[in-house]
Amino acid sequence: MIPAQFDYVAPTTLAEAITALGEAGEDAKILAGGQSLIPVLRLRLAFPTVLVDLSKVDELRGVRDDGDALLIGAMTKHSDVMTDPLITKYAALLSEATSTVADPAVRHRGTFGGALAHADPAGDLAAVALALDAELVAEGPGGRRSIAAKDFFMDYLETSLSPDEILAAVRIPKLVGSWSYRYEKFNRVAQAWAIVGVAAAVRMDGGSVAESRIGLTNMGSTPVRASAVESALSGASDLAAVRAAAQSAADGTNPPSDLGAKADYRQHLAKVLTGRAVAAAAGLSS
Ligand SMILES: Cc1cc2nc3c(=O)[nH]c(=O)nc-3n(C[C@H](O)[C@H](O)[C@H](O)COP(=O)(O)OP(=O)(O)OC[C@H]3O[C@@H](n4cnc5c(N)ncnc54)[C@H](O)[C@@H]3O)c2cc1C
Repeated sequence: MIPAQFDYVAPTTLAEAITALGEAGEDAKILAGGQSLIPVLRLRLAFPTVLVDLSKVDELRGVRDDGDALLIGAMTKHSDVMTDPLITKYAALLSEATSTVADPAVRHRGTFGGALAHADPAGDLAAVALALDAELVAEGPGGRRSIAAKDFFMDYLETSLSPDEILAAVRIPKLVGSWSYRYEKFNRVAQAWAIVGVAAAVRMDGGSVAESRIGLTNMGSTPVRASAVESALSGASDLAAVRAAAQSAADGTNPPSDLGAKADYRQHLAKVLTGRAVAAAAGLSS
């Protein structure tokens, strides 16, 4: 289908983009990689009057060392996130999860910021952002503000960005020390969306789990932090203890029932995949 008519602007700086968004009003939409927005326009599920294309705003691209954190520009493409040496060194869970997103064509257009701003709970990267305690840096006419990932994802496809704000960057605290990672994604065919995904980061100390971070994909209308598992994992040193802790993975979740799976099957998957992800990250095998 052909999208409804819209005006198009392609600013070259963030300041110009904020001005263009403000002038266009509430019916404007930001265009990043277009991998979700263009299908939405073609299906006429949205009718923006103006598209503000960020693809020429160079300052929104790239990864920077920011002391105890990494600052990842919102327009950094998935393919660049996957191979960036700073991300591989300090936030490898993100590179690993990004490598499971769609296919190479989508990963060469889609952006990290676009995926988070789209806030699809079936998307792989929101759960990672939540697990890694990311802060989302928004800029608008009122200036710059930081939003914790736990406060950013409000509901299905809904974030706490206001219509005149642009997601400029994502700040991810570095995980230093003996952290290891695993993103477990269950899908029915290769390169498809997750039926359920589990993002796990684990810090081992003397052979047992000292600290863990677990985020769940597609287990509710927003990404979910599996806090009960994180508490139960403390001190776990063998596979049986990890699997026992993983039994809490579905606590407080409200997954959808759809063509991919029923809700109770997703809850079962969350427990199994959490056990697998943590065991793999912790280097524990049967
Ligand atoms: C065939 C296919 C398969 C896919 N499979 C997966 C998958 O397995 N896992 C997965 O996680 N994702 C998947 N995706 C989604 C893909 O990863 C894209 O990252 C995602 O669609 C959005 O990124 P984008 O840069 O294309 O954003 P766009 O489509 O351009 O924008 C998406 C939304 O975010 C808003 N937005 C974008 N950037 C900003 C910003 N900086 N500030 C404020 N708002 C902004 C836009 O206005 C729009 O509402 C798939 C997409 C396709 C087409």
